[in-house]
Amino acid sequence: MKFTRYEITQQLCRQCGSCARACPRNAVAEGEDKRYRIDQKICDGCGMCQAACKLRAISKRKGLFSS
Ligand code: SF4
Ligand code: SF4
Repeated sequence: MKFTRYEITQQLCRQCGSCARACPRNAVAEGEDKRYRIDQKICDGCGMCQAACKLRAISKRKGLFSS
């Protein structure tokens, strides 16, 4: 169970890949549809992807998340 998680807002993302390169756990991956997604099972919540995104397309959300 997690109380926060990082999410990519696809409408703001320009597929630059900076978040994926910044992630120390390789939790961000580009899908076949060219969209970047965060694998919540791998992510440990360090926040480096959010810091790397110049377009502020990654936000930290609060809630109760199962993974
Ligand atoms: S750094 Fe931001 S704009 Fe670039 S791929 Fe990641 S979420 Fe998208
Ligand atoms: S919060 Fe950290 S571990 Fe999770 S996707 Fe972003 S950079 Fe990777």
